[in-house]
Parts: sequence; structure tokens; C-alpha cells
Amino acid sequence: MKLILLGAPGAGKGTVAKLLTKLDGSVQISTGDILRGAVAAGTELGNQAKAAMNAGDLVSDDLIMGIMAERLKEDDCKAGYLLDGFPRTIPQAEALKVMLAEMGEELDCAVEIDVARDVILDRLTTRRTCSGCGEIYNVKSNPPAVEGVCDKCGEPVVQRDDETEEAISNRLEVYNDQTAPLVGFYKDEGLLLSVNATSSDAVINAIKAKIA
Ligand code: AMP
Repeated sequence: MKLILLGAPGAGKGTVAKLLTKLDGSVQISTGDILRGAVAAGTELGNQAKAAMNAGDLVSDDLIMGIMAERLKEDDCKAGYLLDGFPRTIPQAEALKVMLAEMGEELDCAVEIDVARDVILDRLTTRRTCSGCGEIYNVKSNPPAVEGVCDKCGEPVVQRDDETEEAISNRLEVYNDQTAPLVGFYKDEGLLLSVNATSSDAVINAIKAKIA
């Protein structure tokens, strides 16, 4: 399947994407994970992205389109892909449309996961991430077995730099201003599936029903 996952930070895009990969071998492509990997490795890309990311702002469309132009050509995309956190602006969505047309590919749908703001705020402030493998935890609902240590790889589990209260509120504002307009864009394209649900199973069932 070829899907876009839209939704505010903390709406559950990553969790849904991970579950969907198990259904048919589609690959999860998270621009946030790619950028965090680049920051951790200290690459040129990481250095360019770091300040904007830490403040909760978006990195430039050119930088993101450069990453995605390469990523979508990789072999593992042939089985399908779940775009998690991309596109995030109208120019990115337009550039993606052109890129896919050139590749002769079509999306199945763009899924908007719509979750109430208080749920999002609670999830983001209690979320913790493994600094090694990116595994996601939650201090309340899903803590690691040993506090601060990843169950999977043993690396430290930390709060992301962009999950301070200030950065979170900026990320939500950036989402409303720059990413929420994509809902209208994909509605006009006839590709929108809006799901108002906090449970990832409900989101997955709605996707299955839509693209079956
Ligand atoms: P995420 O993990 O998807 O919340 O992304 C973390 C951060 O990476 C965002 O707050 C942005 O700074 C940056 N980022 C990720 N994806 C994009 C994108 N498609 N366009 C611009 N910036 C992005």
C-alpha cells in the first residue's frame, strides 16, 4: 500500500505506520527519523536541520524534497510505503505529486488521524524515545522495563529535544498553520480518509475498509 499519514505530532502516525508495515511489507518512511539519525551522526544534513528541529520549526522544503527524492527510489519502496511526517507543507505535497507522476506511481490514500488537543499534549509530554534505535515509550502507559534504558537495544531512553513544553506548543502551532491545509489538498485530490480515533486499531480498520 502507498499511504500518507497526516496528523498533529502525537496523533499516532508512527504507531499506526509500524503496525501497517506488518500487514503487507510496506516500508515506514519517517522524515523525522531520517533527520534525527542525521543529527545524531553529525552529518551535513543533520547540522542543517538541527536548530529548526529543536525549536519545533520545520526544516526547509528543499532539504526535505532532496531526502525524499532519493528515499522513494530505494528498492524497499517497491512493496509500498507509509509516509509518516511527510509531506508537511503544500509545496511538499505539490512536489510529491509531480515526483510520483514521474515515477508512474499513485497513492492509495492520505489518512488524517484526528485526535483531540488535550490527548496530544498528554502523549507528547509523557513520550520518551530510545536514542539508539528510536523505539517509542511512554512514562505512564508503556515505560521500559528498566527506567531510562531501551528494552530493545540497551541505549538510553530520553525525552526528545523538541518535546519540551515550549517546543511542543510551537510544533502544534506549526502543524495548524502549515500542515493542516494538506487535509483540504488531499480532499480535493479525492484521496482523503479522515479518522477521528485515539486507538490505532480503529485507524487501521478504517484504512483496511477504505483500500480493500
Ligand atoms: P517528527 O518526528 O515527524 O515529529 O519530525 C520531527 C521534526 O523534524 C519536525 O518538528 C521538523 O523540524 C522536522 N521534519 C520532519 N519531517 C519534516 C517535513 N516533512 N518537513 C519539514 N520538517 C520536517
